[in-house]
Amino acid sequence: MSDFKRLWAPWRIKFVAQGPTRGCFFCRAKRSKEDRRNYVIVRGTAAFVILNRYPYNNGHVMIVPYRHIGKLTLLSPAEWMECLQLSQRLSRRLARVLSPQGFNFGMNLGRVAGAGVVGHLHLHLVPRWHGDTNFMPVLTRTRVMAQSLDELYRLLVE
Ligand SMILES: [Zn+2]
Repeated sequence: MSDFKRLWAPWRIKFVAQGPTRGCFFCRAKRSKEDRRNYVIVRGTAAFVILNRYPYNNGHVMIVPYRHIGKLTLLSPAEWMECLQLSQRLSRRLARVLSPQGFNFGMNLGRVAGAGVVGHLHLHLVPRWHGDTNFMPVLTRTRVMAQSLDELYRLLVE
């Protein structure tokens, strides 16, 4: 083996193993052990829940399958089921902690549809209050939140 190969093989193996998930925000949170720092609220078997640190509205959470897949058709029935169960669980917690009057719930699929992380599917659950903002601004811009993420995380994890 040449010196060049010895030097670079470890880096190469790491790069290949990480593949397209290397730069993925959700995959980094998935692999990390620092749930509090990453605002990971719940970990399930096939999916987890994370606070959006650039929220559309106060209490905005995302429900994310562990698998790095970007197409709706690639989600397995088990992954779907757990994503929906986690969504129900979080809607109950958010209702208890923030008393919203409604929710927006759904997915942005593809960059053109407003997806921030294109390669890794995720569901948005966004609490709504009368007069908070109109629907379109909710989907297109980041707002300044009254409640800090740390405080909200603490309330949702308890
Ligand atoms: Zn990913």
